[in-house]
Amino acid sequence: MPELPEADAARRRIADTCLHRTIAGFTLGEVTHVDLPSEAERARLIGTQFSQTRRHGKYIFAGSKDGPWMHIHLGMSGSLRVYDDGDTPPDYARLTVVFEGDRRLTFRDPRKFGHVKIVEDVDDFIAAKGLGPDAMQIGDNAFAQVIGGTRGAVKSALLDQGKLAGVGNLWSDEALYRTGIMPDTKASDLGSDRIAHLHRAVQDIMGHVMEKNADYSQLPRDWLIHNREAGAGCPRCGGTITKKTVGGRTAYHCPDHQTA
Ligand SMILES: [Zn+2]
Repeated sequence: MPELPEADAARRRIADTCLHRTIAGFTLGEVTHVDLPSEAERARLIGTQFSQTRRHGKYIFAGSKDGPWMHIHLGMSGSLRVYDDGDTPPDYARLTVVFEGDRRLTFRDPRKFGHVKIVEDVDDFIAAKGLGPDAMQIGDNAFAQVIGGTRGAVKSALLDQGKLAGVGNLWSDEALYRTGIMPDTKASDLGSDRIAHLHRAVQDIMGHVMEKNADYSQLPRDWLIHNREAGAGCPRCGGTITKKTVGGRTAYHCPDHQTA
């Protein structure tokens, strides 16, 4: 499921290939249960250009200073594909932005949990959604307050988009694995040093994934992601990777070195 680094890679794809091109129209795939802009909303974008992109947590935006903005949420399995007319279009296409000339931008979504919306103002949208600060932007003190101040499980705190926007199941497990913290430890029981360590781990891990454009094969071999199954050997301590349910989510961890 796409998290902050995967959403950022998708945002970058728009920034690198789709800016300053006039939108000529849209085509829709066979649409069922996918939340897409209405015809009237789509019409507002025709004739305009995307001149900038933004991302907050897992939320992607493309638009211009005065709006409106196209907002994309990748959901469980969505992705963005850029191609040129004449190339084979992607499967599971839900909405395609047709730019003047050959360029096309497609939102594909096999499992149909993502959405595309038109929003007037990005900051207003983020506030109305109740999203916390972006996980790559949050400072030490704010992180200590929102995560360290939580009485529930630390993994659940990291996943709560209202506290911190952008961290999901995969990268919360990776950060806890790196810092030796058990996923169900009460966040408020962790000392300030451990909370600061966790903050650095979250940003370092997601920064690294962004640097590699979310290509997991380029991530270091001793990361949990390459060994993320029950019974796998732990490359850090030789222990055994185990899974347990924390706050309704599956947490992979190594009980031999995640002891805090
Ligand atoms: Zn271990």
